[in-house]
Amino acid sequence: MNLAYVNGQYLPRLDAAVSIEDRGYQFADGVYEVIWLKNGTLIDEAAHFKRLKRSLKELSIAMPTTERALSIITHELIRRNHAKQGDYMLYIQITRGTARRNHLFPKATRPSLVMTLTRFTPPTEAEINKGVKIITHPDIRWGRRDVKSIALLPNILARQKAGEAGAREAMLVNGDTVTEGSTANIFIVKRGVLITHPADNQILNGVTRLAILALAAKLQIKIEERAFTTKEVAAADEIFISSTTAGVLPVSQLDAKKITVGKIALKLYAAYQDYVSAQC
Ligand code: PLP
Repeated sequence: MNLAYVNGQYLPRLDAAVSIEDRGYQFADGVYEVIWLKNGTLIDEAAHFKRLKRSLKELSIAMPTTERALSIITHELIRRNHAKQGDYMLYIQITRGTARRNHLFPKATRPSLVMTLTRFTPPTEAEINKGVKIITHPDIRWGRRDVKSIALLPNILARQKAGEAGAREAMLVNGDTVTEGSTANIFIVKRGVLITHPADNQILNGVTRLAILALAAKLQIKIEERAFTTKEVAAADEIFISSTTAGVLPVSQLDAKKITVGKIALKLYAAYQDYVSAQC
């Protein structure tokens, strides 16, 4: 049976619930993380917990437990779900807690902590070589995209449009600047140079993005962390997306335009596979 952790209890997932007055439900007043659990190892665990702490700090939400307790709960959830083999997403959500509805932060409320484990299938090598379709979509999100907030409505609307167009992802465009995807970061390659949006308040600084940048540096691929335009994407030699669940995923179509899956994307895919395997 799949068990979820909710505020101190391990419960059958279908019975697990939070109050209707949880501020996550009322206001999307919370943050989350998604970590890849591969054969019992949490990939890039430290980087995910670092980002979780940062997101909480940016919203002035307290850690609901000590870091040590959070780690114990995580490993207990893995043990109780017999999840030591295969690929799972560990989902962690922390909200400001339960309080009578009021926009002001409640004073003596404990943050809510929810964790779930869900099986998933990372893209296969055949999918990597084939590449995926993405579409262009306006970025209508708030000005603090660097916080991994649970307020994902604009992301959901964009991802839904992509799904309706038979695409894997929506490439979000703010003015003329490409920021990222609705659930992933975006990279382009032009004349051997790897280009991605800088990690400012316009994007979520992906843990996978950081790993890719470090691997690219090791492979002596030239990197430019800078804003780029839709025109540059149209003229790019390669496009790929990155996230915890997609890894390094080449793009073979942007709207109606076909793109060849490129050498640098495949090289970084292979390097990322090795990087992940080295942690397991
Ligand atoms: N950008 C957005 C908007 C995301 O939602 C995600 C992942 O959920 C990412 C980027 C990629 O982040 P990570 O590589 O840490 O999964």
